[in-house]
Amino acid sequence: METSLPIRYLDRLDLDALRELAGAVPYQLLATDLFPRIEVWIRRDDLLDPLISGNKAYKLLFNLMDARDRGIEKIITCGGAWSNHIHAVAAAGRRFGFQTVGIIRGERPRNLSATLRDAERFGMELKFVSRDLYRRRAQGDFLQLVDIRYQDALFVPEGGANLAGVRGAKFLGQTIAATLPRKFDQVWLACGTATTLAGVQWGLNTAKVIGVPVLKAGASFFSQMDDWMAALGEGPGSASLCEGYECGGYAKFPDYLRQFMLNFEHQSGVPLDPVYTAKLAFALHSESRKGKVAAGSRVLLLHSGGLQGRRGMAL
Ligand SMILES: *Cc1c(COP(=O)(O)O)cnc(C)c1O
Repeated sequence: METSLPIRYLDRLDLDALRELAGAVPYQLLATDLFPRIEVWIRRDDLLDPLISGNKAYKLLFNLMDARDRGIEKIITCGGAWSNHIHAVAAAGRRFGFQTVGIIRGERPRNLSATLRDAERFGMELKFVSRDLYRRRAQGDFLQLVDIRYQDALFVPEGGANLAGVRGAKFLGQTIAATLPRKFDQVWLACGTATTLAGVQWGLNTAKVIGVPVLKAGASFFSQMDDWMAALGEGPGSASLCEGYECGGYAKFPDYLRQFMLNFEHQSGVPLDPVYTAKLAFALHSESRKGKVAAGSRVLLLHSGGLQGRRGMAL
């Protein structure tokens, strides 16, 4: 019997097309010994689309639908050399007919990262700026500072972290609620800006949502989120953070994490990325071994994609 899944991809920029694609994302029961006394499933949003995948897809597509509605044809955004967001913006721009500009942190290196090579191949214009300037990316005058013409363009913040991005993540939460194969006690996901956490917990108003920060976030973490939640209106609001699994900080990949990731992949057959989902799975592994997740709990991990970034890590 033929058992391979058909390769799906988003061929139209509209909500119905995204709904159909997101509704077809598989859920998998993990058969491993890594999570004692709990039942762990994973939703494979890394398989949403070959190029526009994971949580970045949801955040970005809602930005692009807004841009199209407003007649905007140019998207400006920013990120680092291995950014999943930059990669998704470049691919989506190519597919749906937007011009794209990526403001990249740091000097242009002699050899571009695989991510930035792809981005250029997809037609993105790359503009390298010093780390000092890049630090000002949240300022209102950032595009003037880096000398980019932004008339008739939409500026999407790093990672797709804006209100349209939260609406995209809410759509993901609603999709999960509508397609769950079982009832889950908890849904776990990796957090960078927490845009995805904010949106998913809003859309998925039953299970408890737990975010695992991949960097030391500090107090600023939720301040912006509160504004977005207010803009979305009354939400059910049941999200919490599981801290302590930053593993040395953003994009740090210590050997114990590498060992865990390879073991997880070997046992489950599910590939992870070193920056986000490896820390997510490691956090659940550690917490369940310490008995901090009630025995018998059924937990869903969100695979938020990012596999293109694996190319930046020696495994
Ligand atoms: C960007 C990213 C995240 C973090 O998403 P936020 O909405 O910024 O919290 C998680 N996982 C992957 C794979 C990502 O690329």
